[in-house]
Amino acid sequence: MKPGKIVVLGTGGTIAGIASNRYDTSRYEAAQHGIDHLLSGLPVQELTELEIISEQVAQIDSKDMDHQVWRQLLVRCHHWLSQPDVAGLVITHGTDTIEETAYFLHRTLAARVPVVLTCAMRPANALLADGPQNLVDSLVLASQPQVKGVMVLCAGTLHSALDVQKAHAWRLDAFSSGDAGPLGHLVHGRLRQARAWPEPDALINEVARQALSEPMQWPRVEIVTSHAGANGALVDALMASPSTEPVRGLVVAGTGGGTVHQALLSALQRAQAQGIRVIYTSRSCRGMPTSSLRDQRVVYGLSPAKARIALMLELLCNFDPVAE
Ligand code: ASP
Repeated sequence: MKPGKIVVLGTGGTIAGIASNRYDTSRYEAAQHGIDHLLSGLPVQELTELEIISEQVAQIDSKDMDHQVWRQLLVRCHHWLSQPDVAGLVITHGTDTIEETAYFLHRTLAARVPVVLTCAMRPANALLADGPQNLVDSLVLASQPQVKGVMVLCAGTLHSALDVQKAHAWRLDAFSSGDAGPLGHLVHGRLRQARAWPEPDALINEVARQALSEPMQWPRVEIVTSHAGANGALVDALMASPSTEPVRGLVVAGTGGGTVHQALLSALQRAQAQGIRVIYTSRSCRGMPTSSLRDQRVVYGLSPAKARIALMLELLCNFDPVAE
């Protein structure tokens, strides 16, 4: 009997994509091969003693990721992580929203074992596809007992769910962890750890677990961007529009250190006066201002897309860690 299991959950993406031209891989259909097919060509017996189990959770281009798939993924991750013989999870995913899914899972799973999201920049049938190496590296990583937490592995670099961001449209090493730097690297099949594994967020874990038992009522949170020539028309329209799904929160993608165009700010203040939760982030994401320049309103270190997830979870759980 083998000592444990690694569960590989497939969700689609370029890693499962097919191009009509194996050399020019700029045009292809994402999410064509099932997860079993992606695993079938890999020398898994040589990589790990652990048993590999696979499950297809979704089959989508991750640009189309939605809350229903997130819920399904969360349910399956909870299921597998509650089995004592599961040593780690690997999730195959498209690169476009992998950072959002990773952050969502980081905030909703108490991952005491590795949960490794991986991807590819070239489709599965490319002449030199990068997916198989990323998948092999992820299996190796997921089998290491000292690794824990939700992370993204691409091109041998390991990023935390908090810091990872897609930073390039076509390079194989497309992700960056900014100033925080990567968690580590997989070099010739060996892990070189650079910093501590991320700690799970226990409070959100607890409330999110409760939400698992019911259909999740995702609160509507929109992102508005401050830019030259910005005004409040979009925010006013969101407030005015009769909708079965009223806006409950707004994330502002501000400029620089989180500053906002005066014309947009007035509209945001009107929205806040109507009970809408507004949180401020920066379009720049990178670079924490020094303490004297920090604005107390601004959530530093989270991209607008991740801050949107944070605010949705807070509203979902009636929990308000951003409040003073
Ligand atoms: N559009 C693809 C996706 O996110 C891109 C990729 O996987 O690289 O599914």
